[in-house]
Amino acid sequence: MPDKKVIIVGGGLAGLVTSIHLAKAGIGSEVVEKNQYPFHRVCGEYVSNEVVPYLRHLGCYPEQLKPSSISRFQLTSVNGAEANLQLDLGGFGISRYVFDQFLQQYATSLGVTVRQHTEVTDIRFDGRQFYLDTTAGPLEADVILGAFGKRSRLDKQLNRSFMTRSSPYVGVKYHIRLASFPHDMICLHNFQDGYCGISRVEGETINLCYLTHRRNIKAKGSLSAMEKEVMFRNPFIHRLFDQAEHLFEKPESINEVSFETKRPIEAHVLMIGDAAGMITPLCGNGMAMAIRSAKLASEHVLRFCTDTNYSRDKMEKGYAQDWRHHFARRLWSGRQIQNLFGGVWSSNLAVGIANHMKPVAEFLIRQTHGKPF
Ligand SMILES: Cc1cc2nc3c(=O)[nH]c(=O)nc-3n(C[C@H](O)[C@H](O)[C@H](O)COP(=O)(O)OP(=O)(O)OC[C@H]3O[C@@H](n4cnc5c(N)ncnc54)[C@H](O)[C@@H]3O)c2cc1C
Repeated sequence: MPDKKVIIVGGGLAGLVTSIHLAKAGIGSEVVEKNQYPFHRVCGEYVSNEVVPYLRHLGCYPEQLKPSSISRFQLTSVNGAEANLQLDLGGFGISRYVFDQFLQQYATSLGVTVRQHTEVTDIRFDGRQFYLDTTAGPLEADVILGAFGKRSRLDKQLNRSFMTRSSPYVGVKYHIRLASFPHDMICLHNFQDGYCGISRVEGETINLCYLTHRRNIKAKGSLSAMEKEVMFRNPFIHRLFDQAEHLFEKPESINEVSFETKRPIEAHVLMIGDAAGMITPLCGNGMAMAIRSAKLASEHVLRFCTDTNYSRDKMEKGYAQDWRHHFARRLWSGRQIQNLFGGVWSSNLAVGIANHMKPVAEFLIRQTHGKPF
């Protein structure tokens, strides 16, 4: 059987990890990424430890980048009530700026072609073969993995239904330094119509990232006015901004963050990571899900490439079934739990649950997390 050509569209965590998994199993692939590494992304940069065994197995746990190790969780309500929990599994903190580049370099060292600065603008399938248009010319492939994140022009081109609805959420990220901030803690501070996460990444850098409703910013006229007039009502956030040394000239921000249901297979493309479905950021689990979906998809693609009895149809159905089994409930739970955030009454309830009903709080956290794999 001639070698099958595999193209992965998008070189974030899902795309790069898939290329590494396939390369380790002897299957070559090409990653097409529209940006140039290294680059910043809006992300809280806290990775659940459930991915550690798998990353170690692939040889790409980023030990040498010295990620922070996080095991404690602080939650505050809109008006500053506080709860503290120990995290069962915990996680590590690492900036996407260094993590994605590290994975890209590792993939390249395994023989993966990573085409940077190249955007895929169209994907067509003729029943046997895919034809891609890219800003660097046409490409052909037998298998395509869609790893292009939460929202891409390609979603429109593929007529994905969630693209017909606009999403009200805006994400904002800063890197800051603080004179003192615990090494092992992640904080989630509520404010009216939003929440803000803070945790260490590598070195002395601290990630401060928030999600809010577009109307919050519109009502105040600018991000900085909204921060001062809305977010600072939570004294924890006010103190952090007062003490912060900002490392970016201006924040990274993204619009149209959508948590709508998507499909894991679209036009015969296997969707992975956020392209298949995005969990609400408060769960701190999107990157772990991206990595897990990379593993699931790689296993099916591997079988398709090596076993003539494993048809495209079987690969698609098998992956879709695995994806739903692992993620459908987690995504739903994330959406429900997000309803407890961003309001005075509801965020006080969340803090009350964390303080007085620890088993319930731990149960809720477990609903959005997977087991180590
Ligand atoms: C505010 C906020 C905070 C978050 N905080 C956390 C957190 O603390 N922990 C956590 O686990 N998750 C968090 N997440 C979620 C996490 O960032 C995502 O789940 C994760 O990045 C998904 O990885 P991915 O590989 O699917 O997509 P991405 O990392 O977005 O990668 C997609 C890639 O595809 C490229 N691309 C897009 N279109 C094309 C195209 N047409 N051609 C070529 N390339 C293309 C993009 O440039 C990008 O590099 C957060 C998300 C938000 C919005």
